[in-house]
Amino acid sequence: MSADPGIPAGGPSLPQRRNLVTEIPGPRSRELFERRQRSVARGLSHTLPVFITAAGGGVAVDVDGNSLIDFGSGIAVTSVGNSADLVVSRVAEQVAQFTHTCFMVAPYEGYVAVCEQLNRLTPGDHDKRSALFNSGAEAVENAVKIARHATGRDAIVVFDHAYHGRTNLTMAMTAKNMPYKEGFGPFAGEVYRVPMAYPYRWPGGPARCAAEALGVVTSLIHAQVGEENVAAVVIEPIQGEGGFVVPPDGFLPGLAEYCRTHGIVFVADEIQSGFCRTGNWFACEHENVVPDLITTAKGIAGGLPLAGVTGRAELMDAVHPGGLGGTYGGNPVACAAALGAIETMEKEDLAGAARAIEIVMLPRLRAIAAATPVVGDVRGRGAMCAVELVQPGSLEPDPAAAARVASHCHRNGMIVLTCGTYGNVLRLLPPLVIGQPLLTEGLDILADAFTRL
Ligand SMILES: *Cc1c(COP(=O)(O)O)cnc(C)c1O
Repeated sequence: MSADPGIPAGGPSLPQRRNLVTEIPGPRSRELFERRQRSVARGLSHTLPVFITAAGGGVAVDVDGNSLIDFGSGIAVTSVGNSADLVVSRVAEQVAQFTHTCFMVAPYEGYVAVCEQLNRLTPGDHDKRSALFNSGAEAVENAVKIARHATGRDAIVVFDHAYHGRTNLTMAMTAKNMPYKEGFGPFAGEVYRVPMAYPYRWPGGPARCAAEALGVVTSLIHAQVGEENVAAVVIEPIQGEGGFVVPPDGFLPGLAEYCRTHGIVFVADEIQSGFCRTGNWFACEHENVVPDLITTAKGIAGGLPLAGVTGRAELMDAVHPGGLGGTYGGNPVACAAALGAIETMEKEDLAGAARAIEIVMLPRLRAIAAATPVVGDVRGRGAMCAVELVQPGSLEPDPAAAARVASHCHRNGMIVLTCGTYGNVLRLLPPLVIGQPLLTEGLDILADAFTRL
């Protein structure tokens, strides 16, 4: 219930339609933006400077009363929709019961229940354990701690175009300098980067990527690091911020097999691709890859801050008592939200919903590509799809065109995000509960934006 009768309540009951009553951003948002400029650090930037008052299903409503179609889900977070019924009710119950004890001081059931769900839902039927944290970056840091402790090795192997977070260690693991790393060094050591199996940009062409990439990666590790020094290989099964790069079939299973052979911990960073986003619970299920450790966050808790590391019991339990933790990690309110979000995903078959979104979205994106030479590649899986923009007839990235398309969408009441090492990828991440009409309308706006380029 909102205090101001002029402001709608959020959640799935919010009218599911695009409605623009002012220009974007409107006058009230512009006023708030001025306050923001005077009070909030410049280092935080915005995709779209409209201030939100309510959101749910596939829309977000701003302070000027505009209702925008949401193709971003707050970066793949609100997969169950904003203020989903079961998330709201579980959070409300929990917040009235207690808000914090610190799991390391005195435990509570919700934390255990989320770990049980993670152990059940992640790939593989081996014995697993989980630990909970506040953010994706923190989960990645802890996966590295666990892998190093369990193997007694130091080196961590990551990929071109990788994104693993903004803390010191995860900045070292993230590939892109501007804006994530510029001026923030020195970075953590013992992090080694190898080429990503990126079919569209593979030097030998997409057809040779699958066969060649694994050979390049493994020979680099052998020559420059030494297999026996590698604690973990950390990879996003579908890369997120780096450009929604989907490795060719065979690459991930080959990499997992290579890790197994050399006693290297294979870590799947499913922070963006997990929790039904790609049409399975986790993206590595597409090729039946079973990671040793898996990191989760974003979609896990319907918008509340929560993250997890889940993995083989013998790796997770290698760490001594007290070696893992944090004041807030696995906060009871965030755990209640996660249990509500997971129940929603199961009850409403949101993995199936993601597959249904792909069936609508990919053909539309391919039609845009066929009509527009600026689209060099269309890729993705489930409700995690993207188009890569280039100078026609070349691989030369065209970030300016991507920015123009995004800006057209924004002005027309649709939230859409860009990504990619070269900033030239438009990524589409609608909430999995977005209805067919809004999905189609959003794709119409996108198609229109390309027509106007
Ligand atoms: C967003 C993201 C992270 C970092 O998560 P935060 O919650 O922002 O710290 C790490 N890995 C991947 C793949 C991500 O998409």
